[in-house]
This record gives sequence, structure tokens and C-alpha cells, in this order.
Amino acid sequence: MKKGRQWIVACFVLVSSFAVFAEVIVPNVVGDPYEEGREYLTIEGFKVYVLPVQQYSWRGYTLEQREDERLRAIRKVTAQLKVAVSLLPPDPINELRTRVILYMDDTCEYGNERTIGKTVRTGKVYYSTLASTDGSNRKLGQVTIRCYSSFVHEYPYKGIVLHELAHAWHDLFVPNGFENYKIKTQYKWSKECLHPQQKSYWKTNAGEFFAEMSCSFFFRSRDVPHTDMAMSEKNKTLVRSAWQDPPKLDEFHPSAGSCPDESPLSLNEGDEIIDRKRGFIAAH
Ligand SMILES: [Zn+2]
Repeated sequence: MKKGRQWIVACFVLVSSFAVFAEVIVPNVVGDPYEEGREYLTIEGFKVYVLPVQQYSWRGYTLEQREDERLRAIRKVTAQLKVAVSLLPPDPINELRTRVILYMDDTCEYGNERTIGKTVRTGKVYYSTLASTDGSNRKLGQVTIRCYSSFVHEYPYKGIVLHELAHAWHDLFVPNGFENYKIKTQYKWSKECLHPQQKSYWKTNAGEFFAEMSCSFFFRSRDVPHTDMAMSEKNKTLVRSAWQDPPKLDEFHPSAGSCPDESPLSLNEGDEIIDRKRGFIAAH
């Protein structure tokens, strides 16, 4: 009996020490994120530039708190890269690793005050194209994450890095990038015909359409359609074809003609649009 209790204690100690390690070590990160001023890491095979926290004082935040937020931001990016790497097809992921960098810095802006007397810091997460520095036409892409505090506290959606990598794939690897005619055409038809009662983010433009459909298909989206179960067959085919390496959109024929009379995908009244405080989350 006594022996049994010792085993339980031993197991408990073992489990807790693993828990401590899990807390301290950020998995699959090459480079020490705890090293002071560390700026360059490899996370899940992606190059990630992580700039130090800004040294000037924000009301109510100490340097230690800001440093802590920086580490939490690294952990969050790591977790989200894991999601993207495990769900997106492997060949495109390997291609993206060679052409996309992630860049994180502590550029925060004053946001609207939600509570009087409290400083709100806002940031941005977005994808942009980088011009090649070696004189070739080979474009590169950058995912920028601005303001550690904002990224840690204002972005609850776990697929934001996946969403940005979908922009990168669209821009860098799909023929004609964001101008791809088939994606544009399919976007216009979908915006006109699908989920007419929803103000989904994918209705912004063809780029957001592709990124959000990729999220719905491989992971989940905050908006309708939340998962592949609710996606139209045509949009599933589009995502599947576009995420081949190289993309196979030649045989894809966008939806055309008038909208179907009664969409089987329309939602019941219980499926309300969630207020996601868009004002605080910059376009991505
Ligand atoms: Zn976006």
C-alpha cells in the first residue's frame, strides 16, 4: 500500500516536471527567444523576426509585463504555425517556408478607449508582398504581426496565421496571384449567391474570399461557412485545386449564371452573426 502511494507521488512529480518544461520550452523553435534582444528565430521551419519590446513607457505597463507579452506572442505564433503546418498540404507548406517570413514587432497605436481612463493598444496582422532584393522577379511574402500586447489579447481566432499563409499562397504561387481570374470569378458569384443574410468577412474581396475559404476547408472560420461541411461543392473544389503544388486551376470552372432559388446552405435564424469587435481588429 505504501509502495503504491510512493508510485503515485513519483508519477505526480514526473508529470509536474514535464508540465514545467512544457511551459518553459517553446517547441520547434530554433534560437533562444529568452535571450535579450533576440530578433531571429526559426519556428516550424519558418523564419520569424521578433523585435524587442519598445522601451518607452505605456501607461500602466512595466517593461517586465511588455517583455512577458512578447514571449506570449511568440508562443501564440508557434501554436498557430503548428495548426497551419499540420492542416495545410505539406508540399505547399514547404514552398511557403522558402518564400515567406514572419515579422513581429511592438509597434502599438492608441486605439479607441473602451473604458474611460484605460489606454487601449491596437495592432495589426497582415500579409504583404516583399520585392526581391537579389534583382530577380522572385517575389517574397511577409506576414506582419504588430503590437505584442494586441496580438496576445485581441486576436482570439486560432487560425489567423493559417489565414495569412493562404494569402501568401494565393499571391506567390497561384498563377497571376491576387489577379487570378478563376478565383475572382468564383468570388463574385459566391458573394452574389451564397449566404446572402450573412456579413461574412470573405465578402470583402477575392483575396479574403480565398483565405477564408481555405480556413473553412482546412480548419474553421469565424464566419459562415464555419467549416467545410457548410461550404458549397464548387468552393471546396476551388480550394482543393488551388492548394495543389503547383495549383491546378485549369480544369476548374467557376460557378456561373443566376443564383439557385433556394440555397440548401442558407442558415436558420439561430445562426446569428457574432459581434467580433471588428473596430479593434485591423484588416488582415
Ligand atoms: Zn486576410
